[in-house]
Amino acid sequence: MSIKINQEKCVGCLSCILVCPGSLIKEKDGKAYIKYPKDCWGCASCVKECKVCAIDYYLGADIGGNGSKLNVSYEGDILHWNITKGDGSVLVIDVNSKDSNQY
Ligand code: SF4
Ligand code: SF4
Repeated sequence: MSIKINQEKCVGCLSCILVCPGSLIKEKDGKAYIKYPKDCWGCASCVKECKVCAIDYYLGADIGGNGSKLNVSYEGDILHWNITKGDGSVLVIDVNSKDSNQY
């Protein structure tokens, strides 16, 4: 697992830095970056935290990732977990954040 931060989309809110359990994400010139993506633990916390969909999470081969990536976009209380597969097809899983404590 690893992530990639899109510098064009990043607005420098630095929320991802605060939630990364491995302190892997750093800030430079008002943008977040990850120096050693291979050290990523794969927790997806930063992906969920980014409100501007700037972080892509690459799904590993061990779970059948096959070139797939995941990111999150927001629409009010709804989180769209967007999975773009290696063949370009997209699967979206919607989760209402207000329901998150029900499970
Ligand atoms: S959470 Fe998103 S916008 Fe905020 S610093 Fe991280 S990558 Fe940039
Ligand atoms: S997925 Fe988790 S461990 Fe990896 S960079 Fe994001 S917050 Fe850190």
